[in-house]
Amino acid sequence: MKCRICGKPAVIKLRAHNIALCPEHFVEFVQKQTAKAIKHYKMFEKEDHIAVAVSGGKDSLALLDILTELGYKVSAFYIDLGIKHMDYSKTSKEKAQAFCEKKGVKCLVYSLPEMFGMGIDEAARKSRRTPCSLCGMTKRYLMNVAARDLEADVIATGHNLDDQAAALFANLMRWDVSYLAKGYPVLPAEHGFPKKVKPLVFLTEREIAAYAIVRGIDYVRYECPHSEGARFLVYKEHLNAIENMSPGTKRRFYQGYTENIWRFQIESPDQCEKKDEEESPMKPCKICGMPTAAEDGICSFCRFWRPDEVKKIKGQE
Ligand code: SF4
Ligand code: ZN
Ligand code: ZN
Repeated sequence: MKCRICGKPAVIKLRAHNIALCPEHFVEFVQKQTAKAIKHYKMFEKEDHIAVAVSGGKDSLALLDILTELGYKVSAFYIDLGIKHMDYSKTSKEKAQAFCEKKGVKCLVYSLPEMFGMGIDEAARKSRRTPCSLCGMTKRYLMNVAARDLEADVIATGHNLDDQAAALFANLMRWDVSYLAKGYPVLPAEHGFPKKVKPLVFLTEREIAAYAIVRGIDYVRYECPHSEGARFLVYKEHLNAIENMSPGTKRRFYQGYTENIWRFQIESPDQCEKKDEEESPMKPCKICGMPTAAEDGICSFCRFWRPDEVKKIKGQE
């Protein structure tokens, strides 16, 4: 197997693109595909400051590598969830920080155990919530805080084509129209929250794993013990089976959806009515100042993680 471009021995065959590539041209291919997605979906411009959410996994570290190699102005942040199982948080934090240092990128760390004396598992146990639901809310909030602290224009995450296509597949199977309306790889800035983008949407998990190996990126090899990945695993497997039969299907499936997403964003008259009734204006949280729509003016993060301050505020009212 020879590289289509230079004829040297190839390390990977990309059936969806009908090419085989050597390490050098494969790296170029991955970086070009990312640049193409950034341009196609108008994610950001050269002068923008991008905050990359690094988890220590292959996708986010590859994203950091690609964006710095493409010459973007990048900073990073890591959210330490305090997950002790298999030293997950400790190892992933070390890998994330080491890679940022290697690339000369500033990395802010937000540590739940340091800020609140407990990690996501203990907090979930105490509140009888699932770790993932609590984690989702917590990460969304801390991402916005990180963008504010870094004075970044946009937050970039390492979601890849397999993640996006599997989520789309699952949402279609359930006809979950509210999620189908939100699967675009760019979420615009609104209500004081920054823009969020997914620049790896043209690249498969296999391509990113190969890129990480070729580039010598040291990443954490196992997923979070509560891994959300498992939720979509069956959809990923089915999509891979179809992809094997017909290379390129995964990308056409997701890209076609992004061109048709407006069909899911049209609201029925009763939805509009409901929205008008439900929508309360955003205001700054009385405790942390981040925007919130909560009627009592206390955001869900503070309500959960800062109960003493909530009591104080309520006592004063
Ligand atoms: Fe958080 Fe994801 Fe782990 Fe769930 S699987 S606890 S959402 S990092
Ligand atoms: Zn080559
Ligand atoms: Zn708050």
